[in-house]
Amino acid sequence: MKIKWEEKLTCATACSDCARKLGPHDQRILSSYTHDPICLACKKQEEQKPDYAEVSQKMIGACLLETELLYGDLGSYCYHHFYPFKC
Ligand SMILES: [Zn+2]
Repeated sequence: MKIKWEEKLTCATACSDCARKLGPHDQRILSSYTHDPICLACKKQEEQKPDYAEVSQKMIGACLLETELLYGDLGSYCYHHFYPFKC
């Protein structure tokens, strides 16, 4: 599990959904479904899914629980699912 969350913190060079290239200064955001970095256009599509609210709620609960238990200070990582970030 430790490796799983840390992997997601590394900078992706492409959107994991549509494969659009992401530069170091391009904003990206994490998918609530896969926890992989995706571009903002893909996030917009994700938000349209009927179960997005439910999935997001479960995801943030699990993320906070796991990262808090394992690392203490990685909790803010979970919010990258809702707030775009740069590398
Ligand atoms: Zn994309």
